[in-house]
Amino acid sequence: RSSFLSVQDLRVRFRTEDGIVKAVNDLSFELEAGKTLGIVGESGSGKSVSNLAVMGLHNPRNTTIEGSVKLEGQELLGMPQKELEQLRGNKMAMIFQDSLAALSPYYTVGRQIAEPFMKHTGANKKQGRERAIEMLAKVGIPQPDKRVDSYPHQFSGGMRQRAMIAMALVCNPKLIIADEPTTALDVTVQAQIVDLLKELQQEFGTSIIFITHDLGVIREIADDVLVMYAGRAVERGTMREVLKTPQHPYGWGLLSSIPRINASVDVPLQPIPGTPPSLLNPPSGCAFNPRCEYREQVTGDKCRTERPALEIANGHLSACHLTAAQKQSILTEQILPR
Ligand code: SF4
Ligand code: MG
Repeated sequence: RSSFLSVQDLRVRFRTEDGIVKAVNDLSFELEAGKTLGIVGESGSGKSVSNLAVMGLHNPRNTTIEGSVKLEGQELLGMPQKELEQLRGNKMAMIFQDSLAALSPYYTVGRQIAEPFMKHTGANKKQGRERAIEMLAKVGIPQPDKRVDSYPHQFSGGMRQRAMIAMALVCNPKLIIADEPTTALDVTVQAQIVDLLKELQQEFGTSIIFITHDLGVIREIADDVLVMYAGRAVERGTMREVLKTPQHPYGWGLLSSIPRINASVDVPLQPIPGTPPSLLNPPSGCAFNPRCEYREQVTGDKCRTERPALEIANGHLSACHLTAAQKQSILTEQILPR
């Protein structure tokens, strides 16, 4: 596998008044060029934090990062901020959930799209403006030559999200990290934004990391999926493997929270009972054990005392002490028929 982005043993720790938060632990994944990796998990599972670290956007005063993040073979961790700034917006860009926070209210949308382009290509103002209009047209904003002079508050939420995508793509980055980019939008606009990202990916060959808690969106966009829980990867595989034959009790819980495509009535989503653990003081053993209804099926007290490693079971990686045979029978007899 040609690895475009390779993250190895990533660890992120924050210092807080209450102690050290172990936000990301021993996280490894690869992303191939032109592909989409979906990262799924509840809030506080480390999915955003790990990606801010990839981008070098963490706060260096209270955060320590270990491990390795290589983009086309180039190590990003420990790279001087100046060099990272050269890469951000140019070779890699980020799309956030909150476009109001990501766009400045004081400048026109056009100017904010043009800025990274001018900075990284040396284009002048006129060329920057033309490029902004071109990008607004690409992301489907009507009358881009007029809208280029609007301010963010004059755009609807969906249009602002498109403008933010235009800003992220203005330098044809090779990597886009989209952190819950559709969460604040209604379902129709969500679907349009996902389609837009897919189209742009086809056109530019961009690699995408798509962070979400929504498996429905993952099904639409991801080639590979990484499921995170309590700052660790608990499952990793192709989208089909992880969505059709999940091998981890947390993944089983997530599965029951996706709306069925062919459901004739709206089946209410079932959230996973319990709350995500504190990362200040994570549970010993398997971090999911306080919420897991299968832990009694594991011999002895292993779930509470021993952290399960990420291992292949029934085709892809999962971190759970149940045997492959147990997982298979629970999946086929209890989970899939639900
Ligand atoms: Fe549940 Fe134990 Fe598997 Fe953790 S290791 S998910 S507690 S069965
Ligand atoms: Mg987040």
